[in-house]
Amino acid sequence: MKFDELGLSEPILRAVREQGYETPTPVQAQAIPAVLNGGDLMAGAQTGTGKTAGFVLPMLQRLSSQAGPRDGHSHGAPLRDARGRIAIRALILTPTRELAAQVEESVRTYGKHLKLSSMVMFGGVGMQPQIDRLRKGVDILVATPGRLLDHHGQRTLDLSQVQIFVLDEADRMLDMGFIHDIKKVLAVLPQKKQSLLFSATFSDDIKALADRLLNQPALIEVARRNAPAELVAQRVHPVSRERKKELLAHLILQGDWHQVLVFTRMKHGANRLTEYLNKSGITAMAIHGNKSQTARTKALADFKSGELRVLVATDIAARGIDIDQLPHVVNFELPNVPEDYVHRIGRTGRAGASGEAISLVCVDEELFLRDIQRLIHREIPREVIRGFEPDPNEKAEPIVLGRMTIGVRGPRGGASRGAPSGGRPNSGGRPPRPGGRPPQPSQGRTGHAQPAPVPARGGQPSTSRPSGGSALTHRPAGGRGPRGGGHGR
Ligand code: AMP
Repeated sequence: MKFDELGLSEPILRAVREQGYETPTPVQAQAIPAVLNGGDLMAGAQTGTGKTAGFVLPMLQRLSSQAGPRDGHSHGAPLRDARGRIAIRALILTPTRELAAQVEESVRTYGKHLKLSSMVMFGGVGMQPQIDRLRKGVDILVATPGRLLDHHGQRTLDLSQVQIFVLDEADRMLDMGFIHDIKKVLAVLPQKKQSLLFSATFSDDIKALADRLLNQPALIEVARRNAPAELVAQRVHPVSRERKKELLAHLILQGDWHQVLVFTRMKHGANRLTEYLNKSGITAMAIHGNKSQTARTKALADFKSGELRVLVATDIAARGIDIDQLPHVVNFELPNVPEDYVHRIGRTGRAGASGEAISLVCVDEELFLRDIQRLIHREIPREVIRGFEPDPNEKAEPIVLGRMTIGVRGPRGGASRGAPSGGRPNSGGRPPRPGGRPPQPSQGRTGHAQPAPVPARGGQPSTSRPSGGSALTHRPAGGRGPRGGGHGR
């Protein structure tokens, strides 16, 4: 299958060629014709599969070849609203600012030979520049739900002409408590539109949302392109708790590593590590929820350009970060939710490139490691680095995650999860949200317990059209228990 067999127009194919893409990924090969057909779509695909181009390319094609109903004669001319402004014809909702920015960048990249305008919109920055931008007219809007609704509430935004609606990373949206916002957005969109839902997992909540949103959708499910076993070389370096920082600096300097994405569990851990690396002469910045949007955008840009050697991130901040062919991912601390390990290491070895995922594991984390190995169905090779041999007498200590403590031994032999000092053990339910919308991650998430996401896995890609309910299945891949440690991540 080649890109030019998919029915895309020459200006779009040219932009794809300029990106250096030769063949469509499985999700693209299936989603592009389905979206061009005009029907609704439910796609099981996560970051790393090429899903963004899977919806952006056909969306650009449809928008650039359709004449708006009010100016039916002018091929490709923008649709205008009652005030004569270019009306928003496509809306893409994403859970995070980073993802919104990256999706909009893709819209610009793939649409650079077309005359369509796009805009990214998220909270945490001033409203006025966004209002000014909206006034100039926007064909394709990429937004996070909160700010979109703020604009809608202030009547600075008209969604009545939306023809294509995309819900990207729908499972993340629900995890982050955006369901009410999504429902509000759906209520203000026109009834008649093409809707596309992308999600890595299919819980009952997602299926319920899909039932509400989609009309006889085509179904696509693709396996993760970069399933850990295939492309990512994984290694565990056992090390003493107190020597992890030193070992990390040693590995980076000895290996002459550049573009290293390092994960910590908590924000303050990310800050401390960044300080240490900078003192050791390794340029590093942290991105997490307490950093301003400007700081995060700059860190990401410097990291992408190679100016910054190390980016230290928490799981939540790292979601949706799209960096091509990242050569090194380091788990400075293992995640307490095994599925997060799969998400983390999926940042390397993307779209066919090979990568390396290193985990620095101290005695406290052995149970996390065991859960991860169970989930990925393989043992990760262990290699002790000379000079960094772990102290054999070191005793495991419980890991404290915000108000949660994850003990060294628990029921069923697994890591126990509970509160340290009279607090209630995390029940895994969503915390109450007084006053509606939860803060976005960058506005400081605290104490959010979330169900563990399940990585999309499975065999060959499959497409089917359901007769009734969804043909996609939810596979609880050994995930168990609540996601602790939302606190401070
Ligand atoms: P996504 O899953 O949309 O986040 O895309 C993952 C990465 O794959 C992005 O960095 C894209 O630039 C890249 N990519 C998307 N489509 C292709 C393709 N057909 N060939 C090679 N790389 C691609």
